[in-house]
Amino acid sequence: MPADPSRIVTARQMLAHLGLTPADLAAQPEPARRMPTLAEYLPRVAAAASPGTRRTYGTYWNRMSADLGHLRLDEVTASDIEALMRQVTATARTRRTSRHGRHAGEHVIAAARAVYRRAIADGYLTAPDSPMERLRAASRRLGSRTLGWHDCDFCGAFKSNGEYRYYLPDGEIYAAPMMILHYVEKHGYRPPGELRDGLRAAGQPRWDWRAERLHAVLLDQSEDPDFRCQAAVDLANWNDPRALDALRRAAHDEDLADVAGDEIGRSLAAFVDRGLARDLLTEELHVMVRYGLEEASGR
Ligand SMILES: [Zn+2]
Repeated sequence: MPADPSRIVTARQMLAHLGLTPADLAAQPEPARRMPTLAEYLPRVAAAASPGTRRTYGTYWNRMSADLGHLRLDEVTASDIEALMRQVTATARTRRTSRHGRHAGEHVIAAARAVYRRAIADGYLTAPDSPMERLRAASRRLGSRTLGWHDCDFCGAFKSNGEYRYYLPDGEIYAAPMMILHYVEKHGYRPPGELRDGLRAAGQPRWDWRAERLHAVLLDQSEDPDFRCQAAVDLANWNDPRALDALRRAAHDEDLADVAGDEIGRSLAAFVDRGLARDLLTEELHVMVRYGLEEASGR
């Protein structure tokens, strides 16, 4: 939409009055939006929430404001929330039953999560700043799937199997059942600090002993096919031509492709996404590899 010329004239006159030119405005970046403290921000969250949400979380928001209100949104750590959760749990326990204690603790986590979701929506924080989003982003591929399913012991509503494996940039490896996302989201589970810190550390894993080992297992025809399948899943964590080369060779190993071709295909899809294996799509591929590739690319 073209700007109204008369308003531009007015704007120029105002600038002249202030002793400024339009170039001065362009040269000076807009001051960064000030990050509010929790005490400043919580009333806005409460005002925007539905009456039901306010009823459920109001007391926990007040508690957050009292204990952590002086901190800026980006200064509050998972440990702060955790400490608050323990205090609230302990208080509730002395008053009522242990069941109430656990509920109160879960409410603290849910109340804090509601605040941080809104802070992300309002543009104060980016999604990777939140531990939950970091965990979700790192939980890419399921390995070690079994034929059975697991129900949540707390709410029974969720069924799953398999595990996520986290290859941290510092050389550590963590594994967690797929249920970890559900436990964190619905039941206030906090993964160990080492994992949270590791996920916060920037960077891709470098080619190291872990990659060498997975590479060797994948290409060793005397290895257990299930181990080779897991290696095919995990090797995709390395954005490295050696990983791609091993996966391509594995894709042409008929016996392996018969049992693990879909996982090899999913891993190859990661390299297609990275722009490293565009020619792959035209290659003669085992039907299972093609299935995995297409399934992963179709998402
Ligand atoms: Zn559950």
